[in-house]
Amino acid sequence: MPLVFIGPPGSGKGTQAVRIAERYAIRHISTGDMLRAAVKAGTPLGQQVAATIASGELVGDALITEVVRARLAQPDVARGFLLDGFPRTETQADALDGIVGALPLIVALIDVPDEAIVTRLSSRRVCESCAITQSVSDAGDVAAPDSCSYCGGRLIRRPDDDPAVVRHRLETYAGFAGPLIARYRSRPSFAAIDGRQPPDVVTAALSAHIDRQLAQRQEEPS
Ligand code: AMP
Repeated sequence: MPLVFIGPPGSGKGTQAVRIAERYAIRHISTGDMLRAAVKAGTPLGQQVAATIASGELVGDALITEVVRARLAQPDVARGFLLDGFPRTETQADALDGIVGALPLIVALIDVPDEAIVTRLSSRRVCESCAITQSVSDAGDVAAPDSCSYCGGRLIRRPDDDPAVVRHRLETYAGFAGPLIARYRSRPSFAAIDGRQPPDVVTAALSAHIDRQLAQRQEEPS
């Protein structure tokens, strides 16, 4: 079961991806998480992409495609996978179609307007210890020493959640997402979900879309 989630930064895509991957017992593959982990570990890949990630620019197509290709060759994705953050360009989408071959992608767009995103991301923090993403108080005192509600670790703002960088990331997203959405929208396995709804409602809508696709596939003669 190959799944792809598309959505602007801060659309709740990552949170939904974790839930959906758990529900269907498939691997959640976030290219952003993989690259951040590589930066943190100081691997050659991490050193190569650190400045690009911090600036909100996209990493080169060839590099990220190789990262994804290698990841999808691992045995733990045999049951299925959910790609979060890939593809981001038409070149990457072409490469993905080649990687999955005849397996039809199930694609979901989690749609949220820009103004709602900037508000959301200004309060988003990630735990240094357990890496769970969470929101600080709506008052959003960025100087407050918040601690993780799951493990008590220190909450930090991702450098690319800085408002100026967020605006740049939204521009970058707008640039690549249009053609990508146009490409997938014509496929019957595509659905657009309103990401402003409460998280549980979004999860239910995504699950309904996936269940419909899986049911159709079982009905199709093989
Ligand atoms: P994300 O957490 O998905 O917002 O990704 C964080 C950063 O990682 C992005 O701003 C890019 O610099 C880089 N990145 C992640 N996925 C991709 C991709 N598919 N293509 C290019 N760059 C990527």
